[in-house]
Amino acid sequence: MRAVIIDKPGRLRVAAASDPEAGPGEVVVQVGCCGICGTDLHILDGEFPPTPYPIIPGHEFAGTVVSAGPGVSDLAEGTRVAVDPSLFCGRCGYCRAGRGNLCTDWGAIGDTVNGAFAQYVAVPAGNAYRLPADLGWLQSVVRTGVTPVVLTAALVALVLASRHPPATGTAAPARDGTGAKEGTMSRWLTSRQP
Ligand SMILES: [Zn+2]
Ligand SMILES: [Zn+2]
Repeated sequence: MRAVIIDKPGRLRVAAASDPEAGPGEVVVQVGCCGICGTDLHILDGEFPPTPYPIIPGHEFAGTVVSAGPGVSDLAEGTRVAVDPSLFCGRCGYCRAGRGNLCTDWGAIGDTVNGAFAQYVAVPAGNAYRLPADLGWLQSVVRTGVTPVVLTAALVALVLASRHPPATGTAAPARDGTGAKEGTMSRWLTSRQP
């Protein structure tokens, strides 16, 4: 598959990656859309400490189930889902108190394991929520609280790459400081919001 890969802070590329496989209790989702979150930019900038590199980012997404692993019986191929990226252990004191965001073994799809700036992503079946048939991809990510931007992986890469010149030093956009970088991003997003 094709995916956005951040090899290390400041280095992003679109490249071939291994297709994910559904392990026990997991499904593979063909990504229909994925929002860009501020966390993605922090990951690119090396400012999100839990992140292992290299990583495929993208944690606010919806898509279609294309395969299910052992033990998954309620999410058939073709089911459209929105995915909660949170990965909680379910056993620690915080999890048992219903505060999974403070889990001592916290993780998240696209933050600590490969995510959805890709054609496919494997996720726990319990994190996938069925979408109404009349809900489009854009509305799906907006309703899950995501910045209303829907992009293909390639476009995501172009946007994020505008914050960091290619490693080869070619075709780097004009940059004149942090404010300019943020401005570029803001203008790009604003011009494409519905
Ligand atoms: Zn986010
Ligand atoms: Zn926990």
